[in-house]
Amino acid sequence: MEFALQPPPVPAVAVSTGGAFPVRRIFCVARNYAEHAREMGSDPVREPPFFFTKPADAVVASGALLAFPPRTANLHHEVELVVAIGRGGADIPAGEVDRGHIFGYAVGIDLTRRDLQAAAKAKGQPWDMAKGFDNSAPVGPISPLSQAGVMTRGRIELRVNGQVRQSGDIADMIWHIPEIVQELSAFVALAPGDLIFTGTPAGVGPVVRADRLEARIDGLDPLTVGFA
Ligand code: MN
Repeated sequence: MEFALQPPPVPAVAVSTGGAFPVRRIFCVARNYAEHAREMGSDPVREPPFFFTKPADAVVASGALLAFPPRTANLHHEVELVVAIGRGGADIPAGEVDRGHIFGYAVGIDLTRRDLQAAAKAKGQPWDMAKGFDNSAPVGPISPLSQAGVMTRGRIELRVNGQVRQSGDIADMIWHIPEIVQELSAFVALAPGDLIFTGTPAGVGPVVRADRLEARIDGLDPLTVGFA
């Protein structure tokens, strides 16, 4: 069958060893570090982490210079470990996750219109326009599992104009990667090409015009993004 329009290009993220990873969907975990849950005014003991999504074509490569997003006066950075799914499935047991489901890992930034998110929370409305806008998902090169090994710990850090704003350790996640995949795959069948943003440590804060963001996780290629 002929398409009525030119099919859109497949969004993709560079792989550190060469080639590109085609992005199918982007899932994100909210409130997956206790200190960040507290800074957002929630109780990590009472409220477990949960999921939201971004469009696949919100991905942005490292090195991009981005236009400042419209409709926000309080854009925030959230540095996150991103898991790239290489083999999908439904109801994947946590114990199976590291046996072939993970293609690799990358550093990501979950850009957030915090003002719109706060307004949505107050009204009980969805977060989509706060989280899933154009260019809202910068992702650095993906390191294949064969290179990175199974990641369970490591410093995660974000600098704005050279100053450290977020610093933590991925070992401090509330749900670790196997549990995230188990939980998420109980809601949706995961598929090759899916990306999972695994949540941000404390220290989220504003980004303004002309800022330069550098995000790092031990053992992975760094991610840099600038704003015009
Ligand atoms: Mn986030």
